Amino acid sequence: TRKESSAASDVYKRQELESRLRLALAQGHLQMYYQPQIDIATGRIQGAEALVRWNDPQEGLISPARFIPVAETSGVIGPLGEWVVREVCRQGQEWREAGLPPLTLALNVSPRQFHLTDLAGCTAAALHASGFPAALLELEITESALAERTEEARQVLVRLRELGVRIAVDDFGTGYSSLAQLKRFPIDVLKIDQGFIRDIPQSEDDMAISAAIIAMGHSMGLSVLAEGVETEGQLAFLRERGCDAYQGYLCSRPVPADDFVALLRAQAESAAAAQG
Ligand code: C2E
Ligand code: MG
Ligand code: MG
Repeated sequence: TRKESSAASDVYKRQELESRLRLALAQGHLQMYYQPQIDIATGRIQGAEALVRWNDPQEGLISPARFIPVAETSGVIGPLGEWVVREVCRQGQEWREAGLPPLTLALNVSPRQFHLTDLAGCTAAALHASGFPAALLELEITESALAERTEEARQVLVRLRELGVRIAVDDFGTGYSSLAQLKRFPIDVLKIDQGFIRDIPQSEDDMAISAAIIAMGHSMGLSVLAEGVETEGQLAFLRERGCDAYQGYLCSRPVPADDFVALLRAQAESAAAAQG
């Protein structure tokens, strides 16, 4: 039937994407982009979130929203995740050696990578191989990944904390984690999901939720970062509520490493100009 054949062709497409992804990884067609994270109080770039891109010679840039789910269900997430950790540590150390100011680099860990691979061992090896300081590395784990198998999750976080890396909860507010659990986890940062930021200042509900996350995070001693900030109005609201940091198109889209360095240099020049 038509339904069966379209299901079969979906399986085929997935397998095709999976084998192309393995090849892309082996051939160096994956690349990290960097989106600045800004300290709201000072307006300065404090770090970046590293976001993976697949640069296919034929198709051009392929979004992680399309290939991370395939990596997750096929096992490619193991080697892919390892490559991301190594590449971000390597890049971070290269920037340090080039004399750039200290930057926190955040990277994404997907749920299966978090639960099924040796994340702490892989991170320790990448830090060691690169010389990048653990204190400047942040791992973003989605709230939904922390909501399942919570005792195992806590143990992974404890091992990461022992390495000295920072831990951020990504897409916070969407994952049904229990607050009682959350307070037992060694975490440093809550990232307010962009779904709550999008309709500020039109949506009273989203403003109430964002303000509550900021207040709750602070009372738990955590730093709070808002993602997906696109307008001055959103930033003004977050500043007024004491949110610590933001990222979003208002400052910059995710950009290749060289363009990120150019953003940092432009910032340093405008700061120098302001001092006279
Ligand atoms: P995420 O970690 O929540 O990343 C935020 C996404 O929002 C990014 O999409 C980013 O480009 C986008 N974004 C940033 N600022 C704005 C804004 O102002 N407006 C809007 N509309 N969007 C904004 P991207 O790069 O396509 O990544 C999508 C998701 O793919 C990420 O969500 C993350 O879950 C996953 N991902 C990306 N890189 C990696 C990686 O290296 N490893 C793993 N496991 N997952 C990754
Ligand atoms: Mg993220
Ligand atoms: Mg997010």
